[in-house]
Amino acid sequence: MSRPIVISGPSGTGKSTLLKRLFAEYPDKFGFSVSNTTRKPRAGEVDGKDYHFSTIEEFKQAIEDKKFIEWAQFSGNYYGTTIKAVKDVSEQGKVCLLDIDMQGVKSVKGTDLNARYLFLSPPSIETLRQRLEGRGTETQDSIEKRISAASAELDYAKTGAHDKIIVNDDLEKAYVEFKDFILNE
Ligand code: 5GP
Repeated sequence: MSRPIVISGPSGTGKSTLLKRLFAEYPDKFGFSVSNTTRKPRAGEVDGKDYHFSTIEEFKQAIEDKKFIEWAQFSGNYYGTTIKAVKDVSEQGKVCLLDIDMQGVKSVKGTDLNARYLFLSPPSIETLRQRLEGRGTETQDSIEKRISAASAELDYAKTGAHDKIIVNDDLEKAYVEFKDFILNE
């Protein structure tokens, strides 16, 4: 099995945008590990594709049933990767890509997934704030929580926990670097 690739980085850095582009360019090569979350869907998000949206009760039941490889609380909601999410991708013969936060990265590092780790960084916290505000998907409270999580993510990236760090200050340039890391093991 090809090594899974874990993409992490602050919310609003452009992970989803880069991933969507990659899946469109290589539909048969890469697959997305669809996480479970208790957060409400954003406009345009599709259940079963972007996330498996669930209630807190369902999520807690899944924890009890030991369905998760890892799970974490982020910005007041639960997020987790099930064993099934990763298996579904590898059964299709595709390389699995995971989009998870820093707590997830730490957990996955403790498993036998043998993943590669890519960190996507915003040019600065200030640009991140502008992007989150401009995106219009978050409440002010959610933006503040995401900004504070972002600082912790950036500090963690400074410890050298990732195989590669890409600063997304130009989407085209970032995509070239992103593809290069993903395609060249
Ligand atoms: P968002 O609400 O913006 O979709 O995601 C918020 C954060 O949760 C992002 O940093 C994203 O990478 C992370 N996340 C998404 N799915 C998972 C998961 O399954 N596990 C963990 N630990 N984090 C996740």
